[in-house]
Amino acid sequence: MRAHKDIAGFRAAVLAWFRREQRALAFRGTRDPYRVWLSEVMLQQTRVAAALPHYRRFLRRFPSVRALARAGEEDVLRAWAGLGYYRRARNLHRAAKEIVARHGGRFPRRREEALRLPGVGEYTSAAVLSIAYGQPLAALDGNAARVLARVTGMRGDARRPSNWRRLQKQADRLLSGNSRERGSRPKLDPGEWNQALMELGATLCLPRAPKCAECPVAEMCRARAAGAQEEIPGARRGRAREKVSIAAAVLLDAEGKVLLLRPETGHERELFSGMWQFPAVRVRRDARRELAARLAAMLNGASENGRPVIAEKFAALGSLRHAVTFRDITLLPFLLRVETLPPVPGARVWTAQDADAPAVSSATRKILEAALGRTARRDAALRGR
Ligand code: SF4
Repeated sequence: MRAHKDIAGFRAAVLAWFRREQRALAFRGTRDPYRVWLSEVMLQQTRVAAALPHYRRFLRRFPSVRALARAGEEDVLRAWAGLGYYRRARNLHRAAKEIVARHGGRFPRRREEALRLPGVGEYTSAAVLSIAYGQPLAALDGNAARVLARVTGMRGDARRPSNWRRLQKQADRLLSGNSRERGSRPKLDPGEWNQALMELGATLCLPRAPKCAECPVAEMCRARAAGAQEEIPGARRGRAREKVSIAAAVLLDAEGKVLLLRPETGHERELFSGMWQFPAVRVRRDARRELAARLAAMLNGASENGRPVIAEKFAALGSLRHAVTFRDITLLPFLLRVETLPPVPGARVWTAQDADAPAVSSATRKILEAALGRTARRDAALRGR
């Protein structure tokens, strides 16, 4: 798509469709840079429907960059709970502090400054600067890339760096117009255009079974003409998924309190997003035994014939599936009832009813729910006797 008339026709068709059919989303229509930035960060790796309630709640809790910058990390992570990929929340928080310290509390207008903020890359900077400030920057995300790959008939993995560069060039050309327009002002609102192209990818040009019959650019689409929509773009060459088993111990006392730790190893930090977690081990052979050894070490516990005594007291709670980026994780929670929780340096004691709940990852929440579900069933059984 190089000719001026092709580009103009493509843009007109997509924009007319977008103005007619776009979804009414909470973050649409705002040009507030903080809100635009927040929505863009939340929508990375999260579906729109799942992100929306979090977006509203986060904004109520932190209505401005300054409010976010003032907050403690624990508060920010708690407000992010349920969205996963907590690195995004930490970067958002760090970037908010930088924006207040260096940019007067406003998302910077200059791209090189935006790119220096934690967690802000090519895509996020282009999206925020185009939508909030009207800057002519093409924001290429997975949805827009899929549309462009199909329309231009570009085969192969769109995420391959050389292919992605080609798609970015195509996106830039679409936004700025070709040589005949050079020197003139862009004829469209860059923010609206970026959102229109991404919306087309998100709602019609779907990865599987695209809705070509409803597509405003069906007549210009090479993939459709070749009947190759399902083959373009080519399969992504991903990293092989790793299978991991993690055993975790819920120490529960008579008052319903549990013991949480800060992750110690890099692996734990990754799995539990650097947040409070139950004592856990990566299982090599024997989950019960290895977890007991971990607890014995933590508590300076005794062992009998080399076997930690507390291993016998663990109640296995089955297994839970948990997927994180390139890992398929099997969580093996164990319940260990104790009269009183042992004193462990740096640990945190928490009850599920505690209003001041610590920020925990979804893996930790799953483990806790398994333990409390077991406790509730046992209590109900006792009541029924
Ligand atoms: S015609 Fe189909 S494959 Fe082509 S851009 Fe439209 S929805 Fe995507």
